[in-house]
Amino acid sequence: MHHTIEIDEIIERKRDLYINISEKIWNFAEMSYEEKESAELLCKSLEEQGFEVERGVAGIDTAFIGSYGSGGPVVAILGEFDALAGLSQEKGVAEYRPLSKNGSGHGCGHNLLGTGAFAAAVAVKEYMQENGLSGTVRYYGCPAEESGDGKTYMVREGLFDDVDFALTWHPMSVNAVSYMNALATYQVYFRFKGRASHAATSPHLGRSALDAVELMNVGVNYLREHIIDDARIHYAITNTGGFSPNVVQAEAEVLYLIRAPKVGEVENIYQRVHKIAQGAALMTETELEIEFDSGTSDLIRNTTLDKVMLENFQKLGVPEFTEGEINFAEKIQATLTEEELADLWDDSLRGKALTDVILPLQGEEKAFGSTDVADVSWVTPTAQVHTTCIANGTSLHTWQVVSQVGTSIGHKGMLHAGKVIAATAVEMMQNEDLIQQAKKDLQAKLGGKRYVSPIPSDVVPPINRKN
Ligand SMILES: [Zn+2]
Repeated sequence: MHHTIEIDEIIERKRDLYINISEKIWNFAEMSYEEKESAELLCKSLEEQGFEVERGVAGIDTAFIGSYGSGGPVVAILGEFDALAGLSQEKGVAEYRPLSKNGSGHGCGHNLLGTGAFAAAVAVKEYMQENGLSGTVRYYGCPAEESGDGKTYMVREGLFDDVDFALTWHPMSVNAVSYMNALATYQVYFRFKGRASHAATSPHLGRSALDAVELMNVGVNYLREHIIDDARIHYAITNTGGFSPNVVQAEAEVLYLIRAPKVGEVENIYQRVHKIAQGAALMTETELEIEFDSGTSDLIRNTTLDKVMLENFQKLGVPEFTEGEINFAEKIQATLTEEELADLWDDSLRGKALTDVILPLQGEEKAFGSTDVADVSWVTPTAQVHTTCIANGTSLHTWQVVSQVGTSIGHKGMLHAGKVIAATAVEMMQNEDLIQQAKKDLQAKLGGKRYVSPIPSDVVPPINRKN
């Protein structure tokens, strides 16, 4: 029997368990570094499935590793489970209907991501048992993908050093392997401290930290014209210093997120942003304090792993949807703008609410967003698959995603991703040549460059900085 048929059966026999876990995590909808219930549910479920679990790795409460087997090859399967603020939404409805005011929601489908990866790890374990295959399968419980870059801390801790290859996935509207490349990032707080004063009677005695934040932002907005086209600079003012215009604000804080195709480019832009912040402090006679929050590297695609993953995907075929599910996807599409509907991943998707094709491997010219999966990809061959879990045209981080990833559409995509990952893992585990080839690919791409964590060595995970 071909291994994809066996993996298909292995996953299907526990489909209710997986759907149940993904639904619970959908309900928890916990934010980055606060995923206590989601992490514990996955830890307990791993133990129930015969994995040994180490909780609280890399100094992060909600980071963990579940392990089965011993010796090589060692395969890492990466799972995420964090949600997004302000995206509370009822599931299975095609209209905006928040469940609670200011509540969070799984607008990136990480309830599916964490559970589909879990299904894959369990399937690899069962395949190993049934076929007398040796090696180690690990589930990496990776917190804070949305904000905080949990994996970058886990990589810095050396948790991937003995891994032969790593696999993961992301819910999407398309079926594809490694469709996206990722921009490297730095996320840094700039905090200004001034002196409070009555804004009318003694303005000359005050030194405004809010002025410093505003001047810094003006400076950076001028900088934009003089950086590379592919770079992005975003900011959020995280402390305005208060709500009283009649007080000179003594403190203020702005959080910057800088992105560029390569880590070195991010570093260069960061140095210039830093100078602007110093200039703003000089102009306002305030003090500047900098806190590095998190960072990610650029993604290193692995041609060997990508190809093996695509072949396994093609053998397994695409997730199939019922008329009712297609109907629901069409209703979701009716809530999207013309512009969103026209902005498709691929022309072959036009006119389809749910896609039924697997896209060919893409070149590396295009980068979308950023991910901490990229840091894993520097230290071990890494590949990711995307399966159809949402209607074409749906943007990630929207209520439409929250609604869809709680339905059978999302569940089907999730189970399918689990199958592709598990099938790829067992094929690689049984072929030492492929593993060596994947490692050679990685070395060739790095061209002698060594991984340097984008997070300075003295920066601890954000969860341990507060209180
Ligand atoms: Zn995501």
